[in-house]
Amino acid sequence: MTRHVAIVGSGPAGYYTAEAAQKKWGDDVRVDVFDTLPVPYGLIRTGVAPDHQSIKGVSRRYEGTALSDNVRFVGNVTVGKDITVGELEALYDAVVFATGAPHDRPLGVPGEDLGNVFGSAAFVGWYNGHPQFAGLAPDLSGRSAVVIGMGNVALDVARILSKKGREFDGSDIVGHALNALSASNIRQITIVGRRGPHQIMMTPKELGELMHLDQATPRVDPADLPEEADDAFLEPGLRKSVTHLRSFAAIPESERADKPIEIDFDMFASPVRLTGSGKVEGVEVERTVVEAGKAIGTGETYTIPADMVVSCIGYRSSPIPGVPFDERAGRFANDQGRILPGLYAVGWARRGPTGTIGTNRPDGYGVVERIEEDLASGAISGAAREGRAGFDRLAAERGIDVVTFRDWKKIEEAEAKAAREGAPREKFVDIESMIRASR
Ligand code: NAP
Repeated sequence: MTRHVAIVGSGPAGYYTAEAAQKKWGDDVRVDVFDTLPVPYGLIRTGVAPDHQSIKGVSRRYEGTALSDNVRFVGNVTVGKDITVGELEALYDAVVFATGAPHDRPLGVPGEDLGNVFGSAAFVGWYNGHPQFAGLAPDLSGRSAVVIGMGNVALDVARILSKKGREFDGSDIVGHALNALSASNIRQITIVGRRGPHQIMMTPKELGELMHLDQATPRVDPADLPEEADDAFLEPGLRKSVTHLRSFAAIPESERADKPIEIDFDMFASPVRLTGSGKVEGVEVERTVVEAGKAIGTGETYTIPADMVVSCIGYRSSPIPGVPFDERAGRFANDQGRILPGLYAVGWARRGPTGTIGTNRPDGYGVVERIEEDLASGAISGAAREGRAGFDRLAAERGIDVVTFRDWKKIEEAEAKAAREGAPREKFVDIESMIRASR
């Protein structure tokens, strides 16, 4: 019997799930991959940094899956608005949420709503041309930027803020961000972390890139570094990252003069409030000490000047009415991907915002096993479903303007044609232009 699977979200978690379903059931499965946007690949397009093109190459693998006969891309369709989860459940044997974690976790300190303060979802979305954030217009006319968080997103944001003009050659940064960053006055970028070097989440390859920037030099205060002998107890990746921090601390002042921008790591500093009137002017932090891995405030505070702030402290998924959600963790309530028989979650919607793109692969393969178990045990009713034919009927009745994979290929072609010299594409940053290019 043909199995019908709806996957909501066309990023890495979605396409690995489609690939796993295809491997598991071959010709006996039909998979529809829905996306709100008319373009596929989720974070590969709108999250991965534009100057990290080699990471984006994984989309060729997803394209292989998307082009097979039993998998369809169903773009420009918002589940929860154009079609309800209940309707999907009636049409498909299994509905898998691969919706990621698109919302910024709030910092929860006073002043967060001041002007020129952004969460990383918004700021990264701006330079990557996500239609929701393309109009963000951050003010880069000031001298100092504070980036909060010690993860890879903070590193991406700090690195992108330090780059200009030719440094973006070969990237797919969108034109509005390229122009704004090239004219930026920012000279001081402070990465603020509430814990110390042994607790950073930044990975070595990404940290190492800071040594090779045209305009910027990283700085670490040697006083923040623990005894070198203690690095021996770290897991190898973290040990390498800490070695990079040590080399940043050892850069002589004479070498710093060559580059106009500094990326300063301010560790053991926990934000307590953002200051300013109307627009942000500073980040007040409390000095911390780390005890048993936890940041403990010392009561000593100081203010870091900040003409703009980007908070990179993690993300939350979007709840969908009627689908059990773990509010505290900010993701769907699930057991190994199973929300309920028939309803599943993969990727960040399942685990929260951790791991690399490759981490989504076992998620996708695992959830297909859960679906198989639920079909075999009868937890998912054996009633025949209409699958994609049923969706097509509903879409026609409702006038839903579905964007197919073939339509996307036209958008892709138009973006490639519009690219600056040496760039892979110039993305459309609004939905209307995407749809126009697809017709
Ligand atoms: P992350 O790795 O979890 O880092 C979040 C950072 O925010 C941590 O340093 C955390 O500090 C800090 N933080 C959390 N709450 C805070 C608060 N209230 N005040 C101050 N600091 C706070 O998250 P991410 O950077 O968003 O990255 C998400 C995932 O995407 C990660 O798995 C990352 O590796 C991946 N990613 C990978 C790449 C790449 O491979 N190139 C690029 C981007 C993202 P504590 O540790 O003290 O909580």
